[in-house]
Amino acid sequence: MARLVLDQVGKTYTGGVAAVRGVSLEVPAGAFCVLVGPSGCGKSTVLRMIAGLETVTAGTIAIGERVVNEVEPAARDIAMVFQNYALYPHMRVSDNLAYGLRNRGTPKAEIAARVGEAARLLGLDALLDRYPRQLSGGQRQRVAMGRAIVRKPRIFLFDEPLSNLDAKLRVQMRVEIRRLQRQLGVTTVYVTHDQVEAMTMADRLVVMNGGLIEQVGTPIEIYRRPATRYVATFMGSPPMNILAAEAVGEEVRIAGRVFPVSLPDLPAGRPVEVGLRPEAFRIAPEGLPFRVAFAEELGATRLLHGTLGEGEVVVQVPAGPEPAEGATVLLAFDPAEIHVFDRETGRRIGGGA
Ligand code: ADP
Repeated sequence: MARLVLDQVGKTYTGGVAAVRGVSLEVPAGAFCVLVGPSGCGKSTVLRMIAGLETVTAGTIAIGERVVNEVEPAARDIAMVFQNYALYPHMRVSDNLAYGLRNRGTPKAEIAARVGEAARLLGLDALLDRYPRQLSGGQRQRVAMGRAIVRKPRIFLFDEPLSNLDAKLRVQMRVEIRRLQRQLGVTTVYVTHDQVEAMTMADRLVVMNGGLIEQVGTPIEIYRRPATRYVATFMGSPPMNILAAEAVGEEVRIAGRVFPVSLPDLPAGRPVEVGLRPEAFRIAPEGLPFRVAFAEELGATRLLHGTLGEGEVVVQVPAGPEPAEGATVLLAFDPAEIHVFDRETGRRIGGGA
């Protein structure tokens, strides 16, 4: 278990692509840190630099107290789990698990003990004599994790490890990975583009955009107080609704009605946008008129798509036949649920209570 510190880390690939542009991040020993962002935002590059699979072109990476920029991957004491598992097809599960340790000249008895322990932890005991082709996707994923565990590394790195699994197995495996990481207490950096995976797994969530960090926090901090419009609309499903609004003193005008908000940082006359999550709305007599264009049934809840004032919004309401498509209903929300963003910079400048 080790602390990981990135200080102003950058990566410019040969050819000039600036994939990572000054990332500073501290992952406390034993924490589960998730890097999330859309494809191309630089998260795999950050992970590969921590692993030593890419050179660092600016800044420093430290594992424990040691700067590892110039340290060979094999000497960094990390284990990485990839999306494609990278199992050896011609080796049995037991040999796949033992391979890395044999390569390092670990004594036989020690290898047998570690492989046995990993197999028990992952429920692989009955599968040790099988070949990878005789395993399901979830079982292969477990073997890949087993290979990382037997190394007893100081840091685990995961690169989109669940992308090749079907939806149900993804949910099951994300719980397993989280449980196992807590049990082993190994500092972990996990890369995903899936915001639900990120929310559910992270102790420390890092939202990236264009080679930069937009925000770091716990999942709940990021959900409750997104630092930018980008984070607000990336984290949360369905995404937060964004509406143009007018700010006057300590109030915003939304669809012709005025709501109290706190706007300590508002530069005079700056145009703003307000954010409201789909789950912030309720149908209530004091609300604003909303025309339901169409409804999506999710079983426990319904999503209503329609217009509120000038804007298109999505609203999450309890299941039931009402309101029907084409109907106009009144939508209310607690002013505490309002997020206010600067329309030009996208930065959070205030919010409800
Ligand atoms: P993510 O993991 O968020 O999808 P990556 O870290 O893979 O993003 O890529 C970030 C940017 O760097 C992208 O624009 C990508 O095209 C570019 N990139 C990645 N690998 C290389 C490489 N080996 N050479 C040049 N550009 C690369």
